[in-house]
Amino acid sequence: MSLVRYGRLLRLWAAFLGVAFAVGQTALAATPIPVPKPQRASTAAQGDSDPIGALLRERGLAGPTVSLPVVIGLKLTEDGKNSRFTLEFSDPVDVRAFTLAGPNRVIVDMPDVLWRMPDPTRPSGKGAVKAYRYGQFRKGNGRLIVDLNKPVKFATPQTLPPEGGAGFRVVLDLGPTTATDFAANAGWPAGMQPMSAPIPVSPRAPAGKRVVIIDPGHGGIDPGTHSPNGIVEKDLVLSVARTLRKSLEATGRYRVQLTRDGDVFIPLRERVNMGRAAHGDLFVSLHADSNDHREIRGASVYTLSEAASDREAGNLAEKENMSDIIAGVDLSGENNPVATILIDLAQRDTMNRSVRFAETVLSALPGVTSVQSASPHRSAGFAVLKAPDVPAALIELGYLTNTKDESEMATEAWRTRVSNAIAQAIDAHFTGDTKALPRQATNP
Ligand SMILES: [Zn+2]
Repeated sequence: MSLVRYGRLLRLWAAFLGVAFAVGQTALAATPIPVPKPQRASTAAQGDSDPIGALLRERGLAGPTVSLPVVIGLKLTEDGKNSRFTLEFSDPVDVRAFTLAGPNRVIVDMPDVLWRMPDPTRPSGKGAVKAYRYGQFRKGNGRLIVDLNKPVKFATPQTLPPEGGAGFRVVLDLGPTTATDFAANAGWPAGMQPMSAPIPVSPRAPAGKRVVIIDPGHGGIDPGTHSPNGIVEKDLVLSVARTLRKSLEATGRYRVQLTRDGDVFIPLRERVNMGRAAHGDLFVSLHADSNDHREIRGASVYTLSEAASDREAGNLAEKENMSDIIAGVDLSGENNPVATILIDLAQRDTMNRSVRFAETVLSALPGVTSVQSASPHRSAGFAVLKAPDVPAALIELGYLTNTKDESEMATEAWRTRVSNAIAQAIDAHFTGDTKALPRQATNP
């Protein structure tokens, strides 16, 4: 192992410690479990021969861009009742595997890695593995999530040293078990309980400035939906959020906070808490939709309600609320986000403001982008809109599955236009002056 490679690992670990510390200050139930310091595999000391360097070069992965351990292989082998994941790494990486119930999943946490393996094996669907996904969970935390068809058990995965042309390997064997056993063992590993500290409260905005929280949906390991041509929801909404922030800040009237300003995953409840901690006057969640019926297009705006305004709105809320499950967040300690929402009197005022904002956005969008013709304002149990004291709406900007919507959304001109219209709606919401909007309210 060369000094350069060893230095790289040290830097990585220092970076990881920094992140773990920050997490300790602000963590919620979804805090990733810290992954222990990578152990130097004894056989890694191969003198100057650097077999891994040779392996990376052979696979076209060497070079200055490789600054993190690289996942160079991901193989799933299914054999009757057993399934085996073999992860192949450029460096020795310690992983921590655990299970979560409801839905049943296996989570494999590791430090930040680059996922660069050629064609990972797809599950047959006949074994215990229903599907799996991988990516960055948080800064400093990579994650593999396995959705299960049936309960499984496994022994602590071990790291194997490089051998026979393969890199460092982590083998995870999933074998059959009973539902009772699975349920009994599911949850965060003992001694590694998720912390539950509040998000730091921001000082109030200077007098006269409103605080607007912009929430680009999804992120990191949860990409959201995507277009046939590869536009990914998480990237699109982040870019709209940044443009919107610029539009709002240019007025000098707003302090704008993004729930994420990068490709990172943030649990839904944490997004809600960020809005509250920042004393948000308004929370705007940005998303893009998809539909099997490709002809469906146009934006729509959603607010929170106990009962969904229609079945489609209910289904959409369920889909957007899946974000935490997709990213492997443990929801066992919290209320089910899709469970009934109790709206008390204090929340009524927030709800009314939310509805008024939704209507204002809908009066600003026609002529700027396509808007759903049938009931563009709907409501359902969106977990991200649940702050009792921050008026909130979720904007579905359009359908990535519609050719016209998709080609528009791909342009910077569209993003600028839509951001400006939403910024105008936000302004009109606070001033009560809707005259400046591109079009008046769409009530027939
Ligand atoms: Zn979404």
